[in-house]
Amino acid sequence: MDDLQTYESKRARVYERLESFGDFRGGSISVSFSKCGKKNCICHQPGHPGHGPRYLWSTTRKGKSVAQHVRVGPELEQVRRQVETGRRFQTWCQEVVELNEQICRLRPVPEIEDEQELERLKKKLRRKYLKKPTRKSDD
Ligand SMILES: [Zn+2]
Repeated sequence: MDDLQTYESKRARVYERLESFGDFRGGSISVSFSKCGKKNCICHQPGHPGHGPRYLWSTTRKGKSVAQHVRVGPELEQVRRQVETGRRFQTWCQEVVELNEQICRLRPVPEIEDEQELERLKKKLRRKYLKKPTRKSDD
């Protein structure tokens, strides 16, 4: 039980940190150079990297790619910090999951004294886990 309480207070402290994150976003920033459509442009000369650099923030939302051009300067600096904070948030999430898993492991399982109640629960659980995959859950 002591162990459980230690983890619970640790979890409370970790949750407090959530508010200090401020703005953040997922995704990442990439840099690109590109050739334009004008055949005589310097960008088509051998060895020229192309126009740029252009800074692009991009992420995936529900399987679709989302992107935003970012101007070099304060905007890029802001987006860079937001992405960095987003990474810290992800680490934080992982930490929260792991802490909760520790707590779950230590949490005592409740006893059921009543025989009938216990059988009902077992039946319900078997139905839930042994059902055919196509059937919808009634729980
Ligand atoms: Zn060009």
